[in-house]
Amino acid sequence: MDFNYTEEQLMLKDSVRKFSEKEIAPLVKWMETEKRTPRDLIKKIKDLGWCGIQYPEKYGGSGNSYIEYAIMQIEMSRVYCSTACTISVNGMLGANIMKFATEEQKMKFLPEHLNGDGIGSFAFTEPSTGSDPGALRTTCVRDGDEWVINGEKNFITNASMPGLMGIFCKDAEMGPGKCTNILIPKGIKGYSTPRIYDKMGMHGLEVCDVVLDNVRVPYENTTGGEAMRGKGFQVLLGSTQIGKLSVCAQAVGMAQAALEAAVQYSKERVQRGKPISNFQTIQSLIGDMATDVMVGHQIVLATAFKASEGKELAADAARTRLFTSEAVHRVASKAMQVMGAYSYTTEFPIERIFRDAKLTEIYEGVNEIQRLIAATDLLR
Ligand SMILES: Cc1cc2nc3c(=O)[nH]c(=O)nc-3n(C[C@H](O)[C@H](O)[C@H](O)COP(=O)(O)OP(=O)(O)OC[C@H]3O[C@@H](n4cnc5c(N)ncnc54)[C@H](O)[C@@H]3O)c2cc1C
Repeated sequence: MDFNYTEEQLMLKDSVRKFSEKEIAPLVKWMETEKRTPRDLIKKIKDLGWCGIQYPEKYGGSGNSYIEYAIMQIEMSRVYCSTACTISVNGMLGANIMKFATEEQKMKFLPEHLNGDGIGSFAFTEPSTGSDPGALRTTCVRDGDEWVINGEKNFITNASMPGLMGIFCKDAEMGPGKCTNILIPKGIKGYSTPRIYDKMGMHGLEVCDVVLDNVRVPYENTTGGEAMRGKGFQVLLGSTQIGKLSVCAQAVGMAQAALEAAVQYSKERVQRGKPISNFQTIQSLIGDMATDVMVGHQIVLATAFKASEGKELAADAARTRLFTSEAVHRVASKAMQVMGAYSYTTEFPIERIFRDAKLTEIYEGVNEIQRLIAATDLLR
């Protein structure tokens, strides 16, 4: 067992860090205000091959593993989590196709997304549910060689960007509670995004309501073909394992940024004639934060390693997600204590990290459900 990064991984880490500091950081204020991600920025990330870094070259990816993917996500989130998340949701559509589509579908649909020309979406959540596949109301009905899709999805990331969406629909013909995953081009006739959400944080992430009004796509867009019809729940579970890995890496990147900010501030802020880093109360907070960051880092890489080996990830992804999402919450909160009143102003990025971090406990399945998954294999 070797816990060291390879030379190539160290170079990647360094490149993503430099890119994020040089190209993303100067745009953060604009993205926070405009609540959008500049398409030019996505093009730069595409040109570096990071939109499909973890997927094989034959499908348009860069041929690396989930470890390189985790490194990229951690470093990008250290600067701005919204941008990392925009890319990770595209990767989740990638996982949706990579794990469950037919070879023909992979060759047809993946290159455009893994090379970053299209930015994918993954659409499960609806007004009535974000957690229960049995409660879906968006319907797909077969009409000859086509699907006809009707309904409403909400909280769908990247829905305003061109590319494909893997959408989950109630498929009544397959029986009660059955759903089917279908690949639809965003912007197709009958597809609209009437609202982009104004959120508490993650402002650079474009999250929309989606209306599907008699959307027609070829029947052959059923993810995985006939064999996977009615097995949308399986697609959901398999794809969200990868989605959760992304959330974990994002949590660690944000926690790392919070720790660095607190350490730097504590060395510069003087009280009673000495830097506050001399106070044991501050040392204790920083010791706790550093421990959370270190453990988070290690378990994300261990889970990424398992993902790269193609192993079943359900329990690991749920446990890693539980730990890292709660850890970033603790770390951001403690960083604010170290930084006192200034932490509460928009002069420092820590208040944004505190807001952005909350999402890691909610999306890709709420933590209450992660707790249940984390226990399942022990209680069988
Ligand atoms: C910024 C953002 C981006 C998002 N992006 C996407 C996206 O791209 N695609 C997408 O499909 N969705 C997306 N979502 C939706 C997100 O995944 C859901 O909001 C999330 O899964 C929770 O669903 P819900 O809000 O319907 O909560 P509900 O299911 O209504 O749950 C509310 C609460 O009830 C409890 N609860 C619910 N079910 C259970 C259970 N079975 N066991 C125990 N407790 C339970 C939990 O405490 C939970 O927090 C996004 C959300 C946000 C905020």
